[in-house]
Amino acid sequence: MQADFKALSFIGKIKTRVHGNKKAYVVQPDLCHACGLCVTACPEKAIKLKKV
Ligand code: SF4
Repeated sequence: MQADFKALSFIGKIKTRVHGNKKAYVVQPDLCHACGLCVTACPEKAIKLKKV
């Protein structure tokens, strides 16, 4: 987790601190069926669906 934090941009680090050091992770990507609801729901526009 500390390595993930270090990889963030300056703004990303500030946003992370403001939000209690929490970040989104895809825990089980094999269960995602690309409905796009999380993309629509995120107010920060932080989620994108990509072709694999
Ligand atoms: S696109 Fe987002 S909301 Fe839809 S299944 Fe995948 S992770 Fe869940």
